[in-house]
Amino acid sequence: MFTVNANYQKLPGSYLFSTVAKKVAAYQKENPDADIIRLGIGDVTQPIAPAIISALHKAVDEMGNAETFHGYAPDLGYEFLREAIRKNDYEARGCDIAADEIFISDGAKSDSGNIQELFSEDNIVAVTDPVYPVYVDSNVMGGRLGTFDPKSEKWSELIYMPSVAENNFVPDFPEKTPDIIYLCIPNNPTGTSMTKDEVQGWVDYANRNGCVIIYDAAYEAYITEDNVPHSIYECDGARECAIEIRSFSKKAGFTGLRLGFTVVPKDLKQGGVSLRDMWARRHGTKFNGAPYIVQRAGEAVYSPEGSAQVSAQVASYMKNAHAIKDGLSDLGYNAYGGVNSPYIWLKTPNGMSSWDFFDFLLEKANIVGTPGSGFGPSGEGYFRLTAFGTYENSIRALERIKNL
Ligand SMILES: *Cc1c(COP(=O)(O)O)cnc(C)c1O
Repeated sequence: MFTVNANYQKLPGSYLFSTVAKKVAAYQKENPDADIIRLGIGDVTQPIAPAIISALHKAVDEMGNAETFHGYAPDLGYEFLREAIRKNDYEARGCDIAADEIFISDGAKSDSGNIQELFSEDNIVAVTDPVYPVYVDSNVMGGRLGTFDPKSEKWSELIYMPSVAENNFVPDFPEKTPDIIYLCIPNNPTGTSMTKDEVQGWVDYANRNGCVIIYDAAYEAYITEDNVPHSIYECDGARECAIEIRSFSKKAGFTGLRLGFTVVPKDLKQGGVSLRDMWARRHGTKFNGAPYIVQRAGEAVYSPEGSAQVSAQVASYMKNAHAIKDGLSDLGYNAYGGVNSPYIWLKTPNGMSSWDFFDFLLEKANIVGTPGSGFGPSGEGYFRLTAFGTYENSIRALERIKNL
């Protein structure tokens, strides 16, 4: 008789986006004429840039010709892409990362969910609260987080590091020392970031205490401030304690194409065991590579035309972000983020709960956002708006909020 991985049974249903969708559908059904503006989802809306589309077309044609056909990709990913990443994302920023420390994947969600396999079950995990849910749920599946208490909405063995307005969204070092620390900078959902000195503080903390940092830099391309690091490897000592995960999704609109990568430096070791070699083993055994055509598309992101085109897309989302953030602040809202990321995180007015504000905004302004409490207990009383819509809709949404 087979038995199931009982850890899956511990997972509470993921109700956030399905509840949002249900509420919006019900409202639209009752109000068929309502012109709903959707600022809830974390997905890009602009089409793939022309230089990337040309690279895709070219690669597709190569696949139809015996001389230029490509089958299985090398285990770590194609050298042309890993080399472009090494040069543009690391060397250009003064980071010492070798091409064979870069592992091409189908995206940051899979990597950030799979990386926990490298660590034994008794590791203690710390996350910032609120948090991107993948880090938590994948560790539940790995049996590390104990039991879920529906009342406090907390896992018994997980360390929550509140990341709230009171601490400027920079969590304090936890009282109990963790083994694995997840950091997402710039942050989803809060849209806030940390300075290089602050990240350096976490690197020093990790090296002092024997922790590993899983650093999710999915929003690196949205950084506009000079003192925010684009990579954790800009910090001294990060090669000894940090794994970095990146994505082409938000940077270049690859949410439907699928491409990302993870960096595991050779200096990251425990008891003489190299995490880089473990990840290489895992990659070789369980993953057969991102598609050749998509890796060529990824290479085009670094070409002069491609990089100018994707920068223009990011800049246009950031124009929306600034408009929403500044507009809300002018209206007296406490709004955060939106400077180095496409997310605006606002404090709900008059102490409303996140879900009450969701209903209020949907019914009174026909705007959809995401309730902060869906990202963790410290998200209660906050609300997330995204800048991934059009400029026109961002301005219209603001007008409606003004008229509330
Ligand atoms: C969107 C997002 C990802 C997922 O990226 P993919 O490469 O599309 O899987 C990872 N981490 C964070 C924080 C995200 O917001």
